[in-house]
Amino acid sequence: MAALSIRALSKRYANLEVLKGIDLDIESGEFTVLVGPSGCGKSTLLNIVAGLDRASDGTIEIGGRVVNDVPPKDRDIAMVFQSYALYPSMTVRQNITFGMECRGIAKAEQEKALANVARLLQIEPLLARKPSQLSGGQRQRVAMGRALVRDPLLFLFDEPLSNLDAKLRVEMRMEIKRLHQRIGATIIYVTHDQIEAMTMATRIAVMHRGVVQQFADPDTIYRYPANLFVARFMGSPP
Ligand code: ADP
Ligand code: MG
Repeated sequence: MAALSIRALSKRYANLEVLKGIDLDIESGEFTVLVGPSGCGKSTLLNIVAGLDRASDGTIEIGGRVVNDVPPKDRDIAMVFQSYALYPSMTVRQNITFGMECRGIAKAEQEKALANVARLLQIEPLLARKPSQLSGGQRQRVAMGRALVRDPLLFLFDEPLSNLDAKLRVEMRMEIKRLHQRIGATIIYVTHDQIEAMTMATRIAVMHRGVVQQFADPDTIYRYPANLFVARFMGSPP
């Protein structure tokens, strides 16, 4: 069963057509990278999947259930943004457990989930700190920890590394990729960075002007680009 099915999805803002009939099927366990130039509609697509924005037309299915009218909190997704949106007055520990607290998860279970992700992300020494006492990379790890403890059907990442410096970005890429392999999560990862797409994805969806131009594995995208845009954007040899 597909983790996510998008059918004939369109989105208009007034007279601007941002998404033009998108069809996309993502299998459980895939690491899909959605790549394309700034303004092509990547965040809009992700926000519609998350329920933060509404489709003008088409359907979104998560885990076989049509979710067009389902509020974000009931969609079984977790989202990580480039702005980490941690609660500044809470410690790292509280930032990670707050969501579980709200969902009424038992204390012992919260502690177990926290210990698990803290170990996975190597943030155990940071649990008592406030976000202001963390580096950019550490904050991003905490934001990921908060998403991970939800154990959702689908992870949505919107350019999570774009605020980090180049060296840290490379490290975090590898870390996210390892994380994917270890927990077998289904991830949709948005970026405008071709290298990020090539190194992280099991499949890449290349977007341009509100249309998915090609959806294939990195090797196919590189060697057999579907059109001139894909070839130029992904740097395929002429
Ligand atoms: P990307 O994430 O690929 O950079 P976005 O999805 O953020 O692109 O935006 C796609 C297009 O939709 C852009 O032209 C942007 O200006 C427009 N857009 C996004 N959100 C809104 C909105 N709330 N109202 C009007 N236009 C919007
Ligand atoms: Mg965006």
